[in-house]
Amino acid sequence: MKLYEKTASELSEMLRRKKCSALEIYEDVSNRIKSVEDKVGAYITLSDETARKKAIEVDEALAKGEELHPLAGIPIGIKDNISTKGIRTSCASKMLENYIPPFNATVVEKINNADMVVTGKLNMDEFAMGSSTETSYMKKTRNPHDLDRVPGGSSGGSAAAVAAGEAILTLGSDTGGSIRQPAALCGVVGFKPTYGSVSRYGLIAFASSLDQIGPIGKSVKDIAMLQDIISGYDKMDATSKNMEYPKLTDNLTVNAKGLKIGILKEYFGEGVDDSVKESVYKVVKLFEENGAEIKEISIPSANFAMSTYYIISSAEASSNLARFDGVKYGYRAKEYDSLIDMYENTRSEGFGDEVKRRIMLVTFVLSSGFYDAYYKKAKIMQKRISSEFDNVFKDIDIIISPTVVSTAFKIGENIDNPVKMYYNDAFTVTANIGGLPAISLPCAKDEKNLPIGLQLIGKKFSEQTLLNAAYTYENLCGGFNVHSQIL
Ligand code: GLN
Repeated sequence: MKLYEKTASELSEMLRRKKCSALEIYEDVSNRIKSVEDKVGAYITLSDETARKKAIEVDEALAKGEELHPLAGIPIGIKDNISTKGIRTSCASKMLENYIPPFNATVVEKINNADMVVTGKLNMDEFAMGSSTETSYMKKTRNPHDLDRVPGGSSGGSAAAVAAGEAILTLGSDTGGSIRQPAALCGVVGFKPTYGSVSRYGLIAFASSLDQIGPIGKSVKDIAMLQDIISGYDKMDATSKNMEYPKLTDNLTVNAKGLKIGILKEYFGEGVDDSVKESVYKVVKLFEENGAEIKEISIPSANFAMSTYYIISSAEASSNLARFDGVKYGYRAKEYDSLIDMYENTRSEGFGDEVKRRIMLVTFVLSSGFYDAYYKKAKIMQKRISSEFDNVFKDIDIIISPTVVSTAFKIGENIDNPVKMYYNDAFTVTANIGGLPAISLPCAKDEKNLPIGLQLIGKKFSEQTLLNAAYTYENLCGGFNVHSQIL
C-alpha cells in the first residue's frame, strides 16, 4: 500500500515508529497530485515549497525526540474560502482571484501549531454556493470515481482530493451540506460539527448563522483527530461557544448496544433512489442486529427546510457579499464613469451567475412588502424545525438518513436547473438550520459503482455520541475503502 493510501492515524503511527519520514509522506502525496491532478482538478493553488519545509521541520523535531501532535507531518488540503496568510484564497471567484490574505483563519493557525503539512487550497463552488463545484470560476473538479461526474459541492475539491489520494485529510465548510454532500458523492467521510464549536474567524462568510468548518477524511478516527485540533472557543468569533471541549479521539468506542437510532421518515420517501434507500436500510439492520434500538421518527417541517434554507442563507449572503465593492478587496472593474458605476461594473463582472442569482432572489425577498411573506416566515420555520428536533432527541440518541437523494450526477446535467441542483441539499440543510452536528459516511456503491452516503445527525454538542455511532458502524462494516479504483 502506498503512503498516500493510508489513513492519518496509520501514518501517525508509522512516523512515530520511524517506518517513514514526514518528507516521504509529503513526497508520496505530492507525486500522487502530479499524476492525477490533471484528471481530477481538486486544487486551485498548491503550496509545495512551504509544505516541503514543514515536513522537513517535523522530521528534524522528531529526530530530536520532541513531543509533537499526533497529526504532525500529515498532509492536509484546505478549502479555498478559509484564509491562509500568504497563500491565495480565492473563494473560487473572479472577485478574489488574486487575493492573498494577510492573516490566517483560526483553524489554519491551529493546524500550523499542530505541525500538519498544508498541501494547498482546494476548489469549491464560487463563494460556497452550489452542489457540484461547477460554479467555480477557477476550474472544473471531477469525481474521482467517475471523471464524467461531479464531485458534489460546494467543498468538491476537498472531497475529491481525499478520494483521489491527493491529501490525507482536508477541511471543508458546510452551510447547507457542503461537507456532507460532496463526501457522500465521493465516498469519503465528511463531518459538519455543531454550530459554534469551530471558529469561523477567517472563513470567508457565506451565511454566518449557518456556516461551519469541518473535516473530511478516510476514517472516523481521522475525523475525530482533526476535529480535536480545530474545535474550541475563540474570542475572535462572537458565535464561538465558550465551554470545555473534551478530546473526542480519546473516547471513541464501538458499541451499538442500547444506542437509540431514529429513522427520519421524511427522508426515505419519494424522489430518493431505491439503491440509496436500500443501502441505508441495510445499515439500520446492521445496527439493530448488534443491539441498537430503532424507532421511526418524524420532523414534519423537514419538507420546508429547503425553502427556509435558501431564503435565510441568501439573505445573509447578500449582506456578507456587500463588502466586495471594488474598494476593500479583490477585483475592480477596469472601466467606469462614476463611483456607482464602478460598484456596478465590479460586481457585474466579478460575481458569477449563481452568486448573482442568490443576491437577486433575496433582494426581492427582503424588499418591503415581501419581507413578512418570506423572510419572517423562514425565521419562524427555522424555530419550528429546531424545536421539532429538540422533541425527537428526547427519545433517541442519533438520527439516520441518506445524505443525498442520489449518487453523483453528470457534469453539466443540473447546472441549468437550479431547483434540481438545490434538491441535492434536501437532507443536509436541516442540520444547519438546527445548528446540529452531522456526519456523512460511505455505506455502499450503486450499480454504476458510484458511492452512496448515509447521514447521522446528533443533538447539539453531542459530537462524542455521534462519532461513536459512526465509529461503531465503521467497525461493524469492516472499514471504509474510500479510494478511487479508476485513477
Ligand atoms: N449547496 C448548498 C448551497 O448551494 C450548500 C452550500 C454550502 O453548504 N456551502 O447553498
